[in-house]
Formats: sequence, structure tokens, C-alpha cells
Amino acid sequence: MKPIMYYSTNLKTKPVTFKDALIKGLAPDKGLFMPEKIPEISRDELVSFPQMPYHEIAYAIANKFLEGEIPAQKLKDLISDAYNYEVPLQNVYDRKYVMRLDQGPTASFKDFAARQMARLMQFYLGEEKRELLILTATSGDTGSAIANAFYGLDNIKIVVLFPLHEVTSRQRKQMTTLGRNVRIMALDAKFDDCQALVKRAFTDSDLDHLKLSSANSINIGRLLPQTMYYFYAYAKLTRSVDEQIIFSVPSGNFGDMMGGLIAMRMGLPVKRFVIATNSNDEFPEFLSSGRYEKIVPSKNCISSAMNVGHPSNLSRVVALYGGVMDETGLVTKMPDLKQMNRDMHAVSISEAETKNAIKEAYAKHKLILEPHGAVAWAALQQYINDSGQNTPDQLMVSLETAHPAKFPEEIREILSIEPNLPQSLEGIEAKEESFMQLENNYEVFKRHLLQNYG
Ligand SMILES: *Cc1c(COP(=O)(O)O)cnc(C)c1O
Repeated sequence: MKPIMYYSTNLKTKPVTFKDALIKGLAPDKGLFMPEKIPEISRDELVSFPQMPYHEIAYAIANKFLEGEIPAQKLKDLISDAYNYEVPLQNVYDRKYVMRLDQGPTASFKDFAARQMARLMQFYLGEEKRELLILTATSGDTGSAIANAFYGLDNIKIVVLFPLHEVTSRQRKQMTTLGRNVRIMALDAKFDDCQALVKRAFTDSDLDHLKLSSANSINIGRLLPQTMYYFYAYAKLTRSVDEQIIFSVPSGNFGDMMGGLIAMRMGLPVKRFVIATNSNDEFPEFLSSGRYEKIVPSKNCISSAMNVGHPSNLSRVVALYGGVMDETGLVTKMPDLKQMNRDMHAVSISEAETKNAIKEAYAKHKLILEPHGAVAWAALQQYINDSGQNTPDQLMVSLETAHPAKFPEEIREILSIEPNLPQSLEGIEAKEESFMQLENNYEVFKRHLLQNYG
């Protein structure tokens, strides 16, 4: 079988293999890699999934993309090693569920992508005896998931940039208490500024010899793992494969949602995705008007990992629907907006609605949501009210992307309770932190990289 190749959304780079796309991160023309072909899951396969544990479903999906690239047994092993934790599907009422993607080592859904990607990269680097410097910007959860997933691996060094005032102290401590091959830098700036420095470094030929690679949601290795839990939820909850499901996805950089859209293209019976954003509502605006306007600077909301004014994965979404959007957000070819609106219903949720959703979910259902999951839950409730889809039988799953204990201040303020600490966060308060503060200036950042890693 011929392996699937990966093209750049800017269309100015020759298609590359999965391995090259994974190691490179960003395409040389600043576009994002996308699979040329989206493999299909057959009806028979869908029928077999309900009997399988998470890692077996994950392997079946991964193998569709990577057959002929990685030996099957190797792939099986690294995936079952990556997914050694629970994926609870919590019933809330009728057939409405919350999927808790918060049981990994850093208690956010980013563990799913980071753990699989780290193992894939290690596999390829080990083959070639190469070294890499992973550079990543984070709005909170990516940094800790990546740092933890790569922590202690040979041949790989990690640099994480984060906006000093936009992450919670627990999020920060999950990165700054590691050490070893992990270096953390804070910018007194916004997430978008951190992302801009990182993106510029990738296209700076003066830094070629540093062997930079990206672990941000722009990396294709982050995307594939984010298709798997959609299949899992469906497999575990559906009554038959003739039934359609609705997902609500709290979205910032749209990696999570992009994973869902790929799952749908692969043949997962999805009726619709509710795309939930906070006040950074450039995508809901785009879907309704066809005009794309970045939000600069991005707005600060309590769902801080979603404070993204120009989501990088949007160019992938546009590509999936036949359009072209470059890295600046310029749409040079319109995607099929009609089809996008059939597949997705986008809702922007305000701060007040977010807090209210946390309050209501707890009061009505004893369900503890953190701000990101609350945005998704609130958007799903709005969709149910507005769309007439409120039959008790319609299967719906809202994604909870982080553990409430990562946002204790908000939970305390809104619910006056103390969320239980998951095992992965125990003892973190007492650990010693180490990070450096850097000016929001590309030349300063570049000099630092050259001096320390050159
Ligand atoms: C990153 C993140 C999101 C947003 O995911 P995207 O793939 O960037 O849309 C939502 N919730 C939490 C907790 C996150 O860490």
C-alpha cells in the first residue's frame, strides 16, 4: 500500500511523508501539513469498536494513517503505552454525556496528543540517531502536556514559551518544576505573541542548525490522536451504527475540532459538531458571514486555553472544505461555507454564560465543570434550545478538556467548593519552580536560542 502523503495548506511545498511532516512541524512555506487522502473506516470496523478498549480503537485509527510507515506491532505498543489512563463518559441526563479527557498525567486533553506524538518522534529519532529541539508556545495546557510527554527523553530538548499572566499557577508549576531537558520561558505578553516568536523561529534560516521542531497544535502528530476519542465515545455510547451523534467541542486553536472533523470524514456517523468558543468569536463570525477577521489582541476569558484571536488550525479547516487560507488569515480561495454550516454549528459563549453554566451544571446535575468544559456545555444547551434537537433520545457528548482542579480559583469562587486533586497534581505546590523571563522581542529570543542551543 502506498503511504499517505502530506501537503501544505499554502500549496507551495511538495507533499512529504508523515515522518517528515512530524519532524518538521510547520511546512517550509509556512502552511500546515494535511493528509492528501483521508482513509475510511468501514461499517464492519465501526461495528467491532464497542468491544474494544481505548488503545485498540486508537490503534485501528492510527494504523489507517500509518500503515506501511511504522511496523504494526511497534505502533500497537507505543499507542497502548501512551494511553494507560481512563476516558470516563459521564452520563448527565437523558442521553447527554460529558467525556472527561482530563485523566492523563497533566490533567488536560492535550495529554492525548502529546503522549502519542512524543512516542512517534522518539521512534523516528531513534531510527536515525538524530537530535531535536522542540519549541512550543502555550496558553497553559500545551506546555505542560508537551513538557511532561517529552521529559527525560534522550535526543530531545524542549523550550516552552508562555504568557506570564495568562496561565494559572498550577498550570505554570506543571511546567516549571520539571527541569532536566525542559526549559521554560515567560513573556510579559499574550499567547499570540508567544506563538508569533515561535513561528518566526521556525522560518528563520539562521536557526536551521538547531534542528527545531514544533509540538504545537500545528504539528500533524498532534492532530491524528485527536480523532480517536470521538470514535471511542461513539463506540461506547451508540445503540447501533445507524445512529448519529452530536459533539460539543470547546475550541481555541481548533486542533480538537479538526480531529473531530477528520473523524467525521473517515466515516464516523456525526450529525453535527457544536463548536464552542469564548468571546474570541472569529470563527462563529466567519461561519455566519464568510468574512474572517482576527481578534487582535485576543480577549482574556477564564477559559484561558481558548483565548486565541487567530486559530492556527483554521487553515486546515478551510483546506478540508476546499478553500485556502494563508498563515496571516487571508482567504485566497473560499471554502464550501454551506457544507461547513451543515457540519458545524458555532456558538460564542460569554464570561457570564460560562460561569452560569458551571453553577447550573452543579446545581442541577452535581456535575463539576471547569471553564473550558463549561463553554462546551453551555453551547450544547443553547444548541438544544435553539435547534429543536431536544429529544431525550438524541445522543450528545460534550467534551471536558481539563480537570476542575487545574482551575481551583474559579471553582472556589463560583461553587464555593474545593475540587478534588487528581493524583497527577498531588504534591506539585511544594515543588521548586524554575523559569526565566524574556522580553517580547524576536531578536532577544533568537540570541538566547543561539547562545544556549547553538
Ligand atoms: C487547548 C485547550 C482547549 C482548546 O483546544 P484547541 O485544540 O486549541 O481548540 C480547550 N480546553 C483546554 C483545557 C485546553 O487546554
